[in-house]
Amino acid sequence: MRCSLYIHIPFCSSKCRYCDFFSIPGNDERIDEYLDAVVREWRLYERTTSIELTTVYIGGGTPSLLSIAQWKRFGKMLLERLPLVSNAEWTVECNPESFSPGKAAVLADMGVNRLTLGIQALDDRVLRFIGRPHTSRRAEELLEDPSLLRFTSVGVDVMYGLPGQTVGSFTRTLRALLDRPIVKHLSAYELTIAEHTPFGRHRSLLPLPAEEAVSAMMGTLHAAAAEHGFKQYEVSNFSREGFRCRHNCAYWNHSPYIGLGCAAHSYLHPRRFWNVGDIRRYCSIVNSGAFPVEREESIDTAALAREMAFLGFRRTDGLNEAAFSEKTGMDFLRWAGEGRLRRFIDDDLVVYQPPWWRATARGMLAADYLARELF
Ligand code: SF4
Repeated sequence: MRCSLYIHIPFCSSKCRYCDFFSIPGNDERIDEYLDAVVREWRLYERTTSIELTTVYIGGGTPSLLSIAQWKRFGKMLLERLPLVSNAEWTVECNPESFSPGKAAVLADMGVNRLTLGIQALDDRVLRFIGRPHTSRRAEELLEDPSLLRFTSVGVDVMYGLPGQTVGSFTRTLRALLDRPIVKHLSAYELTIAEHTPFGRHRSLLPLPAEEAVSAMMGTLHAAAAEHGFKQYEVSNFSREGFRCRHNCAYWNHSPYIGLGCAAHSYLHPRRFWNVGDIRRYCSIVNSGAFPVEREESIDTAALAREMAFLGFRRTDGLNEAAFSEKTGMDFLRWAGEGRLRRFIDDDLVVYQPPWWRATARGMLAADYLARELF
């Protein structure tokens, strides 16, 4: 089976105030025990299927929190032996406070060819507000580091709509990042606040930018990306020519993927399943020789059609009606409703260039509305 692999490293040096992901503080012993369990989980898959990996993504959490010794050990036990196809993409997420040239060397020697750096903002006031442990200076030093030249692609993650952030500050962050030729990929996310996070609990006290300022940030994002030769390929993702994230594209194309680690998701059609979200339980189930699956669902034709439409209108490639009917056995025009699609076209939200249905720039901003209307 050809597929993608995601490995979740759920440890972080501290918890960001907006963070809604599964992550906890890590210590060496706990991390070692966890990595051993991840290796065991992989062996369970290896025993049942012959696998070839087209993309690998190690995310978190903060994978760069692992020490050099831990990366080397994890490499020997698993990473150096992964069955990669010859042009496989291999990404590791890194944060400025825990990344180092020494770690870069170990990762590059193992075959990692893509890094994504969690920069978020180059504004110390904003970074402090959101609880990121690095400074803008540290992030800029990292971007200057020659060790990054060993990777084919370096991406940066930024956020907008953050407390204390102004349009000017966001614009400066974007320009400072995109001006650098080393940066090939940009992911930009608007802050969303989940109730159970510190931001959710103190929302009324946060100096959040006004709605108009957030819209202006979005405008700046599109303008700065275009000016620097970055093309949007998904609502939140931009890249220079030839540097899209193939791993994310695999998710969006409903290609199969295996997720290893606590709370990791997998999709082996028609099954989508996810692992237990408690590290102790995860380790003990895997150590007993069982798959640590918490829950699973079957993606039937109706669900697949909805997901294809939802994801199609979030991507500049759009939705291919021939692929839609091949995968779902349904005619897209009939499924979506001819009248509704005609209305989208009249409202300049969607264009039709057979066999592609694509959201326009305006439609991309209204991707959630399009999905709601379709479902
Ligand atoms: S670094 Fe990422 S995963 Fe870790 S606490 Fe911050 S937002 Fe959450």
